[in-house]
Amino acid sequence: MNHRMSSRVIEEPGDQGRRIGAYRGAEPGPLVICIASLHGNEPAGIAALERVLDVLSSNRFRMHGDLVGLRGNLQARRAGTRFIDEDLNRVWQRERVDAVLESLRSGESAPEGDGGPIVGSAELAEQRDLLAAFRAEDRRARGPIHVLDLHTTSSESAPFTTLGDTLQNRALALRLPVPVVLGLEEQIDGAMLHYFDRLGWANIGIEAGQHEAASSIEVHEEAVWILLETLGLIEEGSAPGPGDLRARLARRAEGLPRVLDVRYRHVVSEEDEFRMHPGFRNFDVVEAGQELGADRTGPVRTAFAGRVFLPLYQRQGDDGFFIVRQRAAEWLTVSRLLRTAGADRAATWLPGVRPHPARSDAVVVARWARNRGVIGLLHLMGFTARGESGGAVMVRRQEGPARQPESASTGG
Ligand SMILES: [Zn+2]
Repeated sequence: MNHRMSSRVIEEPGDQGRRIGAYRGAEPGPLVICIASLHGNEPAGIAALERVLDVLSSNRFRMHGDLVGLRGNLQARRAGTRFIDEDLNRVWQRERVDAVLESLRSGESAPEGDGGPIVGSAELAEQRDLLAAFRAEDRRARGPIHVLDLHTTSSESAPFTTLGDTLQNRALALRLPVPVVLGLEEQIDGAMLHYFDRLGWANIGIEAGQHEAASSIEVHEEAVWILLETLGLIEEGSAPGPGDLRARLARRAEGLPRVLDVRYRHVVSEEDEFRMHPGFRNFDVVEAGQELGADRTGPVRTAFAGRVFLPLYQRQGDDGFFIVRQRAAEWLTVSRLLRTAGADRAATWLPGVRPHPARSDAVVVARWARNRGVIGLLHLMGFTARGESGGAVMVRRQEGPARQPESASTGG
């Protein structure tokens, strides 16, 4: 039986559509959905996916499962800017997504204004189209779905992954030999990856390096190939290129901790006129009290020692910088054991923590109990703070396949 002949690339007409392309395996298996250029000034992911899809099709790879590449923010990509009206990676709050899904179902345009999406926002149209695309991919899937969100940074950086800290997302991230940064998504309200947690699809963000660096394209390529191999879509060792693929990617993050978490976020607004001092690379070690930049009021220093993370070297964005620190590997083991043992059900035994009156998957933390100890234990148990609640409400992360009403096909 010749499996090779029936694998094929599906190309969209025109070359700037939502789909970069897809490669459908001869055999069923996992579906890997890659999203590139969710920020329009980050073209590396698109180039990487074009290369991977090209190699798959020209070599007629035998594949178990399917690979799909989608463009994130089409309009911003054409303009070469991070976004047009709103950051497309900050608009995935549950209520907004529900409103857009509802409009898709009824065939109307999404409701706008009154706290909803920005009226006439370019990104509202992108989001609506992306949600329709995810729904279509969900229908075509012939196995479990994994999502890779391919990004680059304004500063020079070693590659790393970000994720909502569920066990299945961790397992996916740990397949790649680069640092895992925990806690970033908790700091950022409305990141797209939240939506996939809700669907029960394993998902990670991959940050490959500086926006324009040629190496960023290579990192994304290497990451996609490694995941195609380790998820079983293609045979181990069949990815192209010289030498060992994992060793090649690992060398790019040499000397960095395996797991880090975010300890501090410096929020900036346009009026602050914040300027990062030049020369900081991602993960550079900084000391407590060190001057990292300046704003209208004078020098800006970090209160925490650690490593500077995502320093802002572009015009758009509301994160000046983050400080991250190494997290001991044992922490991952302890929290995995706690979660699989169902210790999350004991969360309300903690001082100052009571059940949420309306949600079975959430707890309410009294103001006096919102200290590192209690919040840290809740993190270990798999709870996360969500957006505006400021730690008052901690929600248990959903693990594993979604319940029926939450599937992308039915909306919800
Ligand atoms: Zn980005």
